[in-house]
Amino acid sequence: MSAPRRFTGHWRMKVAVIGAGIIGITTAYELAADGHEVTVFERRSAAAEEGSFANAGVVAPGYITPWAAPGMPGKVLGQLFSRHVPVTLSLPLSGRELAWLWQWRRACQLETHLANRARMQRLAHYSRNRLQQLSTELELDYECSPGYMVLLRSEKDSRQITPSLQVLSDAGVSFRQISAEEARQIEPALSPDTALHGAVHLPDDGVANCRQFALLLKNEAQRLGVSFEFNKAVAQMDRAQPASFLIAGEASPRHFDQVVLCAGQASAELLRPLGLKLPLVAVYGYSLTAQIRDPLNAPCSALMDERYKVSISRLGHRVRVAGGAEIGGSLESRSASAIQTLYKVLQDWFPGAAQRSSRQGNAQLWKGARPMLPDGPPLIGSSGRTGLWLNLGHGASGWALSCGSARALADLMAGRPTDIDMEGLGLGRLA
Ligand SMILES: Cc1cc2nc3c(=O)[nH]c(=O)nc-3n(C[C@H](O)[C@H](O)[C@H](O)COP(=O)(O)OP(=O)(O)OC[C@H]3O[C@@H](n4cnc5c(N)ncnc54)[C@H](O)[C@@H]3O)c2cc1C
Repeated sequence: MSAPRRFTGHWRMKVAVIGAGIIGITTAYELAADGHEVTVFERRSAAAEEGSFANAGVVAPGYITPWAAPGMPGKVLGQLFSRHVPVTLSLPLSGRELAWLWQWRRACQLETHLANRARMQRLAHYSRNRLQQLSTELELDYECSPGYMVLLRSEKDSRQITPSLQVLSDAGVSFRQISAEEARQIEPALSPDTALHGAVHLPDDGVANCRQFALLLKNEAQRLGVSFEFNKAVAQMDRAQPASFLIAGEASPRHFDQVVLCAGQASAELLRPLGLKLPLVAVYGYSLTAQIRDPLNAPCSALMDERYKVSISRLGHRVRVAGGAEIGGSLESRSASAIQTLYKVLQDWFPGAAQRSSRQGNAQLWKGARPMLPDGPPLIGSSGRTGLWLNLGHGASGWALSCGSARALADLMAGRPTDIDMEGLGLGRLA
């Protein structure tokens, strides 16, 4: 992997980054490391307050795959009216959401799925390397635990996962299919009362605290000269000069040489007046974070309950359970059944792990939006409008893809060859 190369003299550009989630922060850092003059505009009063706030934290490149996959439409429809389902539709859906579902269904075709999975995994492996490199070089100290285990409750779960294991083998990912006994040796606190058929263990993957990393990298970016303007909402991009925009409450536009849009879910709205209609929708999910009551009863690292698609992560002295995929509805509404599913899965596997009562002030419930494109991979690269770049649409894997996406975008903006093939990771894919 190439180290950041600093520009000199006339190469130094004045760049605005819109959005201070994990994508905006990593982008700002990489651009500043290249020597550019960077300003980040964020509508909230701090970084990583929206989609990057309390995600599951899983960084498992081999396991990253588009949600548009063969057989998924049938699976989703078949489960719509069951309890504890991984995917729900919150009716009525908007025209944009219906159009997205249609495109998603088309992207479930095997050939499209395989192409998109290869693109995402290429980026994910690169991204994990860059994450490790940054963490080591900058001595960033954030909550993380190595190892990722996929729990298979039954033989049926085990059979259903077989095609994915072939993909892992083909990609050279290090993993082991293990028995229930071996799984319990790796995670000794797994409840013996819940049936476990077996597991898949990925020792090189793991979990890390996305928000903590974002806040630490923000400090490093500031050290490189990045300035952050919080409580500044970009109200309107300039159609004639896309590297200029208006901030809410300000009379005149701000002008830059280049602008990078990293506004997560809000990006589609900002692009529409420029004639760019992105099929980006929010796929909402939930997480529950609680203090660990007794470390002996808690998970050591990250696990995924394959049947319920719920992850359980160890983050320092806390345990985080995350899952649910809700299309439609809003960030403000709460689905009681999705939240119950998180409690159920935690109770099934680690009944004594967490202090769960919110009255004790130590359980935090969060609902976040995954900014999701119908076919899976994000959009990284030129918007096709002079001076406006995109780094958005990272869906369910924004944390795992962030560091690589940012480095690649900085290289593209510099007109340098990227370390990985960026085929299918730009806007051209959607044309
Ligand atoms: C329940 C759940 C679990 C998840 N688990 C994982 C996981 O295990 N691993 C993984 O890799 N990913 C996971 N994700 C996905 C990941 O959290 C997202 O992909 C990622 O956080 C998206 O980052 P972002 O920077 O694009 O968006 P955000 O973090 O939402 O950042 C966008 C920023 O732009 C700002 N903004 C928006 N509009 C404007 C404007 N007009 N002006 C100024 N600022 C603006 C927002 O305030 C926000 O701060 C999960 C997501 C959810 C919901």
